[in-house]
Amino acid sequence: MASTVSSRPIPALYTVYILRSTMRHASLYIGSTPDPPRRLKQHNGAIKGGAARTARASLRPWEMVGLVSGFPGPVAALKFEWALTNPHLSLHIPAESRLSVARQTKKNGHPRRPPASMQSILANLHLLLRVPSFARWPLRLHMFVPEVHAAWNKWVASQAVSEEGVPTTEPVEVLTDFKPSATDSIFGADEAELGPAWGIHALPLDYGPMRDYVDKAQDIFTFEREGDCAVCHTALPAGQGLYAVCPNAGCEAVGHLRCWSDHLLQGEAAHDHDHNPEDAHLVPKRGHCPDCGGPIVWADMMKELTLRMRAPKEVEKIVKAKRRQEKAADKAAAEADKAASKAAVAAAAAAEDLPSSIEFVPSSAVPKTKGAKTTKTATKTAKATKAKAKEAEKATKITQTTRVTKAASVTLPKATKTAKTTTKAAKAVAATAVGDASTVLLDRAESPEVIVI
Ligand SMILES: [Zn+2]
Ligand SMILES: [Zn+2]
Repeated sequence: MASTVSSRPIPALYTVYILRSTMRHASLYIGSTPDPPRRLKQHNGAIKGGAARTARASLRPWEMVGLVSGFPGPVAALKFEWALTNPHLSLHIPAESRLSVARQTKKNGHPRRPPASMQSILANLHLLLRVPSFARWPLRLHMFVPEVHAAWNKWVASQAVSEEGVPTTEPVEVLTDFKPSATDSIFGADEAELGPAWGIHALPLDYGPMRDYVDKAQDIFTFEREGDCAVCHTALPAGQGLYAVCPNAGCEAVGHLRCWSDHLLQGEAAHDHDHNPEDAHLVPKRGHCPDCGGPIVWADMMKELTLRMRAPKEVEKIVKAKRRQEKAADKAAAEADKAASKAAVAAAAAAEDLPSSIEFVPSSAVPKTKGAKTTKTATKTAKATKAKAKEAEKATKITQTTRVTKAASVTLPKATKTAKTTTKAAKAVAATAVGDASTVLLDRAESPEVIVI
């Protein structure tokens, strides 16, 4: 059993959530899961596997009003879940600071769990997030309902200062993601299909946010670019020992696991004014890279390391996903390129109208006195052609934007850049086209260079 636990990588996401009945707000439930949207469906009976306590039809649908993320694994999440569910028993909460006190005992003499209210859950959550054993993990609190968030803030404010006027609370990272007002009044399992993803539906359930990091590390070790330890500066023989990699983009600092840990712990000790060597931590939390100076969250580093050491297939999947992402970006760029060429063609066609319509006014048919009129007609034609060219440019731009936007759902930043460059190129091409059709051809030939990014 122990070996199966340790052979798994740190999961992409593991959460402890607070569930509330939308029908009866006083009905609450605490659970843990790596996949909140799926778990909510289970609680709501849309798929099998919900808890018996949430099976009553009159209480459905349930909603997740908040959750804590950042657990290094299911065991850690279960510990937290248990402590939050049993605050009257948890050893993580010293007896004197317990907010929930068992006033009744069960038949067997054990203390009965006091009924949980949103207020008591938030208060215990606040306490647990600051307990040293849990505070070592990179836990974050996510709030999805404004009124629950307001209750949390009120409680934090009430706890902020001790009797001596000293702030007692360490900051806990709180993220809010409330329901957009456009999708009001519909709760439950189908939320994901309404409008943009928010709340639990916007949480990254896979290793997506780590793609670049995992890919970089994979590259370093595949091509044996370990070099020297970023901390102790001794050479790192390829394929030996546990080496961790800096998570910051562009930095290839690699080091002994122990060296990184010592380095980060030293940094923490230097910043902790009340540092007591006796309660020196064994596991660091965060710090900075000695090479690039960028921030390091120990748990992220361990996530990458455990993936690399324990889940080569998962790493392969992540790297493949990154390749797909890059391909989609290339495709978006190519489509934008195509659209730009079309714009150039349309502009050129419009411009070709200009000289030909002037030529079509036969000089012999125009009395000399009407020379001024001819110029006027020509100007008029030129104006009309210009408008036509503009229209063509606009139309192409719209098509192009639609196409780019479609592809951009995968690669928004790159595509936006491409679209900008392309629009610029198309504009330049169209402008030139009105002036001189031959220049257009030149520009069109050059435009792919402009678009390549
Ligand atoms: Zn070292
Ligand atoms: Zn670095």
